[in-house]
Amino acid sequence: MSTVRHVVVGGGVAAASTVATLRSGGFDGELVLVSDDDTVPYERPPLSKDFLEPGSPPTPTLIREPQWYADHQVQTLLGVKAQRLDPRARRLKLSTGESLSYDGLVLATGVRARPAPGDASDRILTLRSLADAKLLRSRLASAEHVAVLGGGFIGCEVAATAVGLGKRATIVERADVLMNKALGHSIGAIFTDIHRAKGVELHLNSVVLGVHDTGSSAVVRTNHGSIEADLVVVGAGSLPNVELAAEAGIVTDNGIVTDQFCRTNVPNVYAAGDVASSYHPFYNQHLRVEHHDTATRHGAAAARNLLGHDEPFLEAHWFWSDQYEHNLQRTGRAEGSDEVVIRGSLDDLKFSAFALRDGRIRSVISLNQPRDVIAVRRLLFVDHDVTADKLRDQAMPLNRLRSRMPASATAEERTS
Ligand SMILES: Cc1cc2nc3c(=O)[nH]c(=O)nc-3n(C[C@H](O)[C@H](O)[C@H](O)COP(=O)(O)OP(=O)(O)OC[C@H]3O[C@@H](n4cnc5c(N)ncnc54)[C@H](O)[C@@H]3O)c2cc1C
Repeated sequence: MSTVRHVVVGGGVAAASTVATLRSGGFDGELVLVSDDDTVPYERPPLSKDFLEPGSPPTPTLIREPQWYADHQVQTLLGVKAQRLDPRARRLKLSTGESLSYDGLVLATGVRARPAPGDASDRILTLRSLADAKLLRSRLASAEHVAVLGGGFIGCEVAATAVGLGKRATIVERADVLMNKALGHSIGAIFTDIHRAKGVELHLNSVVLGVHDTGSSAVVRTNHGSIEADLVVVGAGSLPNVELAAEAGIVTDNGIVTDQFCRTNVPNVYAAGDVASSYHPFYNQHLRVEHHDTATRHGAAAARNLLGHDEPFLEAHWFWSDQYEHNLQRTGRAEGSDEVVIRGSLDDLKFSAFALRDGRIRSVISLNQPRDVIAVRRLLFVDHDVTADKLRDQAMPLNRLRSRMPASATAEERTS
């Protein structure tokens, strides 16, 4: 073994993917994962879904078993926070008082939940970690009425789970439809109807002014009055964990800023996952996305670049959400599109909505039609030729839209 040491800070899927890719890519030096969570990296998506159900196992879905880290000589420092980074000395100061030198460093510090304005109490919860989910699960079991602040993904998923458990659920949302930011107004309106039909009480166009624990309930004060509930779940967005980087002089701007190779402005320091605001060559802008798949691929890309491969991170972002019996997926970005085409049936809640510009698909949102998303992911950054009629024709396989591209095409050619 060489004496080179790479350190990965973070305990999420991006960090897990970084260490796995470093090892599978042939790195045989010392490898250390520093996470302030006390569990090896686990999956967060189930935490707002199945995990909350009383019959589900109370243990997380691990990305890799603890034995994997031992077998691959990955030292896991769990329950340890990286407190200070000295890029000149290439050292990390840890909460244990020790300091750790590194040759390469990947920051995969993720995000934290934005707190609610008002009291901190075990009736007013956020949801990000396994510990959060365990507390929510136990509080949910005895609650009759759950108020969810924020009609984004996590809020909607928690409300759906609560309704599935027979609870009364209320969502308080600032916009006039749910999931407006992620899905746009028209598809957001469809989801709003889905939740309403399931019995969720909706307080739309409502701004939360404060949340208070009365000792026997939690009261949410909004610009339209007050809501009393047994439990409040705050799904009001997130804040990227940039402090370690920012205090070390690494450029941050709504995340840790990186180039297309996951490199920060400081030599040998990379960033990946939810915390990273990475330059994306296809969109010609920095983007920070909070999707599981992106974090996984991003961590792998950071590892490959640390190993010297110089591969731009050129992924089509993709996410999914499960609410009630519905599966929602999206890939691509709709900005700049000028036409929306529906394939399938809005009435049957089985459709894909394509956003187009200049004969190209910019994004697709699919409800209960996941195959369309798989096909579009492969098309987004390659030449393709599309018309509204072709898309509406359900008999026409979407992969037929791909134009022939020489196998030798470079990444730049493919994105031009
Ligand atoms: C409840 C929930 C449900 C979700 N559902 C979906 C879904 O259905 N579909 C989807 O696409 N995405 C979903 N996501 C988003 C997805 O889980 C995230 O995009 C993904 O977890 C991001 O991984 P990450 O490794 O970048 O960051 P994180 O998972 O946030 O991990 C960062 C880790 O770094 C640790 N850390 C931070 N700072 C330090 C430090 N200084 N020292 C040591 N450790 C530190 C943190 O404690 C944390 O463990 C969901 C997220 C949540 C919370």
